[in-house]
Amino acid sequence: MRFLPFPPDAGDEIIRTQCLKPDWSGREAQWLTAAAKYRRFRGNPWRVRPAGFVDADADALFALYDSRGRSGPIARIRRPAVPFKSCPMCGSLGGRSLDHALPRQRFPEFSILRENLVPACEICNSSEKGDTYRGPSRPTRFIHPYYDRWASRALWRIAFEHDLDVLRFEPVALPDLLPRRRRIVDFHVKTLLGKDWRDSVRREWSSLPGKLRRRVGSAPTSAAVRVELGVRLQDATDTYGVNSWDAGFLRGLLADPVIVEGLVDRVRALPA
Ligand SMILES: [Zn+2]
Repeated sequence: MRFLPFPPDAGDEIIRTQCLKPDWSGREAQWLTAAAKYRRFRGNPWRVRPAGFVDADADALFALYDSRGRSGPIARIRRPAVPFKSCPMCGSLGGRSLDHALPRQRFPEFSILRENLVPACEICNSSEKGDTYRGPSRPTRFIHPYYDRWASRALWRIAFEHDLDVLRFEPVALPDLLPRRRRIVDFHVKTLLGKDWRDSVRREWSSLPGKLRRRVGSAPTSAAVRVELGVRLQDATDTYGVNSWDAGFLRGLLADPVIVEGLVDRVRALPA
């Protein structure tokens, strides 16, 4: 969940180079047109349509990623010289992988188009998301790290239900986003943040009272707890990024006075 610059070799050069190879030149015009549309519509899955490659053409385009994906320029998108603070798609600290913003099964023409290859973690690439590449209705879709410049800012937080004995929560878009962006972010976080994220929230939540007590003592005021949470949020933002799992968690705690009070009670209730 962040804006990223385009990979260094974005553009038509990879298409032109590939089409110098035997048997490829017949695909060039249609392929270039598809790439131009991708850029014009900024990879928006509600605007970009499959280019219509079928049979052997579709298979050949689809397979390009299999032969190129593990080395060279594509490997460097996955693992840049300066590592990402967290997954650019979901904010986890998981391993480095790549996602096709528009899936290559449906859009084989974008299988190695750099603009369509976004760094993501293994969790983002897992089966939970499946073949989903856009939401149920306009404008819902995933954030596109190369085109959504607005995604550099804080986008989401966790929202807890107030009965803390049965910990229930969900990720939500921040209310101060423009309405259209808010719907996109809401779809993005609710689709990408799944089981692994839930486990991580439960771990964070259960260890937090003990960590807080070491900082603010055994009978803290809610003001003291809020200050400490604010410090932790700043640390998480600096270390893992403004939309990392940790940052979204802490932002959610701070946004809800009832939850802060519940946390204060938990610190006070810890055995001496
Ligand atoms: Zn991820």
